[in-house]
Amino acid sequence: MQATTLDGRTIELSADQVAGLRARVRGALLVPGDAGYDDARTVWNAMIERRPALAVRCLGVADVLECVRFAREHGLLVCIKGGGHNIAGLAAADGALMIDLSAMRGVFVHPKQRIAHAQAGCLLGDVDRETQLHGLATALGFVSATGIAGLTLGGGFGYLSRRFGWTSDNVLGMNVVTADARLVRASADENADLFWGLCGGGGNFGVVTGIDYALHPVGPEIVGGIVAWPASEAPAVLELYRTLSESSGPELTLVAILRPAPPAPWLPAAVHGTPIVALLACHSGPLGEAERDVARIKSFGRPVGDVLVRRPYVQLQSLLDATQPKGRRYYWKSEYLPRVDEALCTAAIGHAGRIRSPHSAVIVFQIGDAVARRPSDHSAAGNRDARYVFNVAGAWEHARDDAANVQWARDAWGELKAFSTGGNYVNFLTDDEPPERVRAALGPAVQRLAQVKRRWDPDNVFRTNRNVAPA
Ligand SMILES: Cc1cc2nc3c(=O)[nH]c(=O)nc-3n(C[C@H](O)[C@H](O)[C@H](O)COP(=O)(O)OP(=O)(O)OC[C@H]3O[C@@H](n4cnc5c(N)ncnc54)[C@H](O)[C@@H]3O)c2cc1C
Repeated sequence: MQATTLDGRTIELSADQVAGLRARVRGALLVPGDAGYDDARTVWNAMIERRPALAVRCLGVADVLECVRFAREHGLLVCIKGGGHNIAGLAAADGALMIDLSAMRGVFVHPKQRIAHAQAGCLLGDVDRETQLHGLATALGFVSATGIAGLTLGGGFGYLSRRFGWTSDNVLGMNVVTADARLVRASADENADLFWGLCGGGGNFGVVTGIDYALHPVGPEIVGGIVAWPASEAPAVLELYRTLSESSGPELTLVAILRPAPPAPWLPAAVHGTPIVALLACHSGPLGEAERDVARIKSFGRPVGDVLVRRPYVQLQSLLDATQPKGRRYYWKSEYLPRVDEALCTAAIGHAGRIRSPHSAVIVFQIGDAVARRPSDHSAAGNRDARYVFNVAGAWEHARDDAANVQWARDAWGELKAFSTGGNYVNFLTDDEPPERVRAALGPAVQRLAQVKRRWDPDNVFRTNRNVAPA
């Protein structure tokens, strides 16, 4: 079998060598042609088609250690699959040994200590489901099928970021298999430099096998959901978004979405496919207060749909899932924003009007507050001046429509980037982004990350990520 080395050469792995690895792991070792191989190599974004030489569905830390040992023995290129949700498809690399963590989805909650230990193959929904049994949660993202590992290693934001900061700010420690095949702990007290780099540095330093999160009382019932209006109301609705997001407390997080209406049951059939503007809200404060705070949204104008109600937090966390299925073609352009002003809203409405697919959207997420409360060098997750994230999110079905949809996203970004802080989110970068965009995403942390890289991965074994070369 042919495989790719770290320096890009193609080598031959003998059947005995592959059988040797198979005997050393408990999870399935999959090669092209095996049942399960295509499932292992396929990532969320259908624009990305890559074929690792072999994939190991690790069942535990020992399997991960064996994979890293084997990769080092043969000088193999390595890729790591958490949730496989990265838009750039970083989980898969041609000719590589894929360390597939998707079978490692255990979550162990310690309610008294308010800590959850999650194996690195967990999806966000796995963690929320278990922590919510105790009325606890950590700050994760908006779509329950996203992997915790990639999200956390890139920083991470979601419904609770205004209260609790980046996802990585909530990490107490990680277990990591290093490039020299050792299992180490990274926390504020142990290997603090590694911990600093893992919290937002894009996963450059090893294979994270487990993450300990600090938990906070949340729900289990909150006020959350979405209200939609016809796109003709967009200027007024975005003004409401701006004023509410500037004036409300951190318990309320708002997201503005401009897109063709999806065929969702909460929207009348006559509206499906027509342009709408929507506000997605999560209020995780006391329920009475929450209902008072969202009343202005619910009573605004004449909505075409309103499912902003009391509901379980864990249900809200999967509300958007159906709009982001695995297997569509996706292309995003994204920036951090310091504020939302009228000119930005006008430009966003204009580009939403030129959307080329029923699945695309222009989205503005609210962050800020707790994100900004920590010093900028607290961890590798910088960009703490950002108050919002905009994402021009192209999504469509067929390869024949690639050019038109990619061009739409690029055109929109070409105008909207003028409103940026200058930073962008490392986890939203597509496959074709140039190195300067990665540097803008990682910001001033880049130099320190290069030093951490030199100590923990001097041979740059872990390079199929937003790579920082060793200093
Ligand atoms: C539909 C959708 C919604 C999203 N919503 C949000 C959101 O609300 N908030 C947010 O912050 N982000 C969001 N994201 C972005 C998300 O954070 C990134 O896509 C992230 O990379 C996904 O993590 P994953 O484990 O699924 O990634 P994968 O594709 O599996 O991996 C991504 C990268 O992380 C590395 N990696 C994965 N696991 C490990 C590990 N265990 N050890 C070391 N490196 C590892 C991989 O090598 C790769 O470089 C969303 C993405 C999608 C597609």
